[in-house]
Amino acid sequence: MSLTKNQVASVAYTLTVDGQVIDQADKENPMAFIHGVGGMIPGFEKALEGKSVGDSFSISVDPAEAYGERNDDLTQDVSREMFTGVPDDQLIAGAQFQAQTDAGVEVITIAAVDGDDIKIDANHPLAGQTLNFDVEMLDIREATTEELEHGHVHAAGGSHDKPVADDSGSGGCCGGGSCGGEGQ
Ligand SMILES: [Zn+2]
Repeated sequence: MSLTKNQVASVAYTLTVDGQVIDQADKENPMAFIHGVGGMIPGFEKALEGKSVGDSFSISVDPAEAYGERNDDLTQDVSREMFTGVPDDQLIAGAQFQAQTDAGVEVITIAAVDGDDIKIDANHPLAGQTLNFDVEMLDIREATTEELEHGHVHAAGGSHDKPVADDSGSGGCCGGGSCGGEGQ
């Protein structure tokens, strides 16, 4: 079977940027995702299309097919007061915070600290980066109707402990999107 849309792929992978390992999943704890529904970055889905179980391959994904180019408009100078309650030793360049914004939860990186002036950067940490993946395709199966409805993978043979209460569109059908603790 080769991977097509609406199938669940399980992969082991290592993501490196400039030779540095950023993320990985091994065979014991593979990453499972529904292919072709936009859950993964476009370049990754494109590269996996048509691959078969047992295939191992390396791919290089340009920023445009990954997290986009950096946008300098997303950097901002703010006052230290914005970080009330954050210990000084965490207010350092490179520190990352999750912030609630109009676009949802975003990762904010502290780009620079100069006294009470703090430069923050709302670009995705991997924006502007070329991503290199070493991938091994471990398993392919058809997604269940329920998985397709929810847009995420359920634990093997599993379902939700309790019925989905409503279709409010919050995406929180199973407490954060990882039913049964499988995968990511
Ligand atoms: Zn679900």
